[in-house]
Amino acid sequence: MSKKIIIAIDGFSSTGKSTIAKLLAKKYNYIYVDTGAMYRAVTLFAKNNNFVGIDFLSKDKLITHLSDISLSFKFNSKLGFAEMYLNDKNVEKEIRTLEVSQLVSKVSAISEVRKKLVAEQQLMGKSSGIVMDGRDIGTVVFPNAELKLFMTASADKRATRRYKELIDRGDKVDFKDILFNVEERDRIDSTREDSPLLEADDAIGFDNSDMGIQEQFERICALVDRRIS
Ligand code: C5P
Repeated sequence: MSKKIIIAIDGFSSTGKSTIAKLLAKKYNYIYVDTGAMYRAVTLFAKNNNFVGIDFLSKDKLITHLSDISLSFKFNSKLGFAEMYLNDKNVEKEIRTLEVSQLVSKVSAISEVRKKLVAEQQLMGKSSGIVMDGRDIGTVVFPNAELKLFMTASADKRATRRYKELIDRGDKVDFKDILFNVEERDRIDSTREDSPLLEADDAIGFDNSDMGIQEQFERICALVDRRIS
């Protein structure tokens, strides 16, 4: 039988991390955890309770109410992946809006938020056979992961992908707002004090600006196969 490992996928916004992660989870029968969805769900909670907005952040209030937040993933067999639930409500659609994207990096820079989510992520990884994507998986959550990938692509390519995703699901958005958001999130995520977005020393870098999903997937599968055999 092949060994079950932890695959950590980090990188900049909209680099296709979750697409690759879902394909890997399906092929190897692994659990997929989208940690960005967890930060987005906390942000949605903060937004709905008026703890965060474009020009304010009530950090102390959010920290006080962190214990009111219960996050869970429930597998949707029709979609083939797990959806995010916030206090038992499916929030999969609500967390993907541009509005949440504009607030999430502010919320995810709060150490108390990170502490809560990292502890939950580490618990999920207790049974190996997991693929987790985010910003600090290979550096903080699972520094001993057997395979670490770090994804990059040009800001323009990434914004184009995100724009298409939002337009396809019926959102009305401007390309320039998406491009600004992608770059702004990367700036905040890379410069925050706690667990900034960094490439782990032992990560394998992938610039997928000009690489299709299939090619990336094949290359990554070869890396996985080497580690599990
Ligand atoms: O992956 P996604 O783009 O959905 O992540 C949304 C945001 O959540 C990121 O821009 C970042 O601020 C935060 N995040 C994080 N650490 C992670 C995953 C996401 O800080 N492990």
